[in-house]
Amino acid sequence: MYQFKEVKPGTFVLSLDNHVLIADALAAFCSQNNILAGTVNGLGAVNEATFRFLNPQTMKYVDKTFSEQMEITNLTGNISQKDGKPYLHLHITASRSDYSCIGGHLLNARINGACELVVENWPGATIGRRLDEQTGLNLYEF
Ligand code: FE
Repeated sequence: MYQFKEVKPGTFVLSLDNHVLIADALAAFCSQNNILAGTVNGLGAVNEATFRFLNPQTMKYVDKTFSEQMEITNLTGNISQKDGKPYLHLHITASRSDYSCIGGHLLNARINGACELVVENWPGATIGRRLDEQTGLNLYEF
C-alpha cells in the first residue's frame, strides 16, 4: 500500500502505491506506525476524488466525486484520533487537464500515477475529536 522512510526523527516520507485510496493508505500508515497526532502534506496524481461540502445553513453534507485525471497541487491535513482510530482531516487542491483547479475537503481519492506525502508525527501527543452540535463538525478535543 505504501513505502516509507523516516528521514529525521518524527518526519516520514511516504510513497503510496499506484491505484490505492489515499485516505485508506494514510490511515493504515498511521495505525501501523502508532502515529496518533500530527500533520500531513503531499502531492501526486489521481483519477478519482470525492469532496465533501458542509452547508452551514442546512447542516447537510454534500459529497461529489470527480472522475478524471488530476494533479494534486496541494494536499494538506492533520491526523488525530476518533473512536480509537486515526481521524484524518484532509483538504486538497487538484488541477484538471485544462489547468483549472478544484478543491475542498477531501474524503478520499484514488491514485493514478504517484502520491508522495510527508507526515510529521507529534510523538507523545494524543488529540481526539468530538462532535460539535452547533457546527456539525468533529472538532479537536484537547
Ligand atoms: Fe475540512
